[in-house]
Amino acid sequence: MNLIFDFDGTICDNFDTVFILATEFLQKEGRTIISANEVRRKGAKKLISESGIPKYKIPKLLLLARKKIAEQIPNLKLFKTLPKVIIKLSKKHKLGIITSNSVENVTTFLKNHKLLKYFSFIHSEIDLFGKGKKLKKVISRFSLLPEETIYIGDETRDIEAAKYAKIKSVAVIWGYESEKSLKGQNPDYIAEKPKDLLKMFNLTS
Ligand SMILES: [Mg+2]
Repeated sequence: MNLIFDFDGTICDNFDTVFILATEFLQKEGRTIISANEVRRKGAKKLISESGIPKYKIPKLLLLARKKIAEQIPNLKLFKTLPKVIIKLSKKHKLGIITSNSVENVTTFLKNHKLLKYFSFIHSEIDLFGKGKKLKKVISRFSLLPEETIYIGDETRDIEAAKYAKIKSVAVIWGYESEKSLKGQNPDYIAEKPKDLLKMFNLTS
């Protein structure tokens, strides 16, 4: 199988960092501050559309966020049991990453955690609402068979992207969005903890 991972919130445990950056930004812009729970409940897409920030400004904001995240990379952690799970999965499956974070950030992070060699590819592109298109692009670029490819992510837009690309999805509940909103999008599988991925893909922990 080809297992394509989202990065932020799925592999990298950076919700708190991103939340602090977002709060600082909202304060500076004089906009309403939102709680972490509300962020998890609503998800990025809804929050951005409700924020009143014009769409054309978003790519610039994302670039700024990437820069700020890059400064935090040495402090960012992985979800606790995920490294072992990634190593085991990589023995039987081809692993890749699709992200709107930068290849440089992701590579540095994975190197810091000695996990870079387990991934066959990292595809990065800034396009907040076009994850499905990115997924399709990667499937064709690496000649992956859709029926043998699964997208693993922590947000409802990851599940939507997998549906758009006509592949199966795994929603992980340790990231940015609540289990309830993820279930609302009907992912093919739900992982409550990293080890669940091993069971899903016929490996033992
Ligand atoms: Mg994510």
